[in-house]
Amino acid sequence: MNEVKVLLGRIIDSVAEKPVENGAVIIEGEKIVYAGPRENAALPANAAVYTCENATILPGFIDAHAHLTGTESVHRSGETPYDLLLTVVRDLSDLVDAGVTGVRDMSAFGRALRDAIGKGNIKGPRIMVGGRVLSISSGHCDFDVTRPVAQCNREDLTGFMMDGPEDCYRGVRQQFREGAEFIKICATGGVSSAIDDYNDQEFSEEELKVIIGEAKRHNTYVTAHCTGTAGTKAALKAGIGCVEHGVMLDEECCQIMKENSVPLVTTLSVALGLADMKDLPPHMLRKAKGIKEAAMRSFRLARQYGITVALGTDYSNSPNTPYSEIGREFYSLTRCGYTPMEAIRAGTINGARLMRREGEIGTVEAGKLADLVMVQGDPLSDILTLACADNVKMVLIGGTIQKEMPEVQYGL
Ligand SMILES: [Zn+2]
Repeated sequence: MNEVKVLLGRIIDSVAEKPVENGAVIIEGEKIVYAGPRENAALPANAAVYTCENATILPGFIDAHAHLTGTESVHRSGETPYDLLLTVVRDLSDLVDAGVTGVRDMSAFGRALRDAIGKGNIKGPRIMVGGRVLSISSGHCDFDVTRPVAQCNREDLTGFMMDGPEDCYRGVRQQFREGAEFIKICATGGVSSAIDDYNDQEFSEEELKVIIGEAKRHNTYVTAHCTGTAGTKAALKAGIGCVEHGVMLDEECCQIMKENSVPLVTTLSVALGLADMKDLPPHMLRKAKGIKEAAMRSFRLARQYGITVALGTDYSNSPNTPYSEIGREFYSLTRCGYTPMEAIRAGTINGARLMRREGEIGTVEAGKLADLVMVQGDPLSDILTLACADNVKMVLIGGTIQKEMPEVQYGL
């Protein structure tokens, strides 16, 4: 018989408008079998019961915008791809400890990491694999012009460059070969890129058509890095399925997104905090100014239009973007006028939809997989409760305990 676990506390299930104040979640094996008021729960006599002071139980957090094989982690142990892969293994553990149980990854090792986690070889969140980020040469992912494009494509772990429709067929199919479950492109330049301007439109209409068509034939969607307005609009008109960053949306962009149910992924902590970051290269510092106000305007507009928002962070476990503070993204969204409950949905069920797993994860409901977080505190009265891994006392993925702090009380 499966071991039965019970978590007691306030439940924010990402479905109801209000929390269940005195709730119980019963878990059998990997699934939730009951979530609701404690008084209605039939607690099995042999159950293992967990709670903590002022406990709140939420769905595990989902970061819809990650580049796991980034290069800036504080754990980085060397320069080769092998060093970086091993660094990510360490980073994944930090992510789970911060409450992250699902990630949409856009980098080279997503497939291998997903499968190693699935097999139980390493600790980590569920991963939806995006492959590398597709960009034009001279575009957002062209970081080193001293190397030929073909060499960059062989060696780089985050970006992949394509020029012209033929190349776009090959590049997209290459990502599918490497295990991609969705496709990420750069529709515009970016703040962090070395050459382009964030107002540049990158792929042409012809190239966008090829990329989006190819993704559709693989039964998936294209998501696009979108900073400047014109490039964002061109990508939306071409039929992208999701907008990342969305820093400079105008009314027309929002209108198209609303009509086509195109969601928006946040990365607001980076956008709002960029100008304050330490040791930024000059080309970034110049662009960072103005981004904050633009992003706040954009997300307020998106809220008025009722566009679905999912939390993404772009964090890389660097000193500026530590995974232990990845939950700041909930707070950043509230700074743009969203309620704490809206922010929590963005970081749970809305992320699950982007992972195309909303039937399995993203809410605290009977029948779903037990991907759960227990925090100490009430995030509805103080959203910063979610901003620090220290407040995350327990994390479960598929009913298996991944983190359990000493503050967790065991037994009734
Ligand atoms: Zn990114």
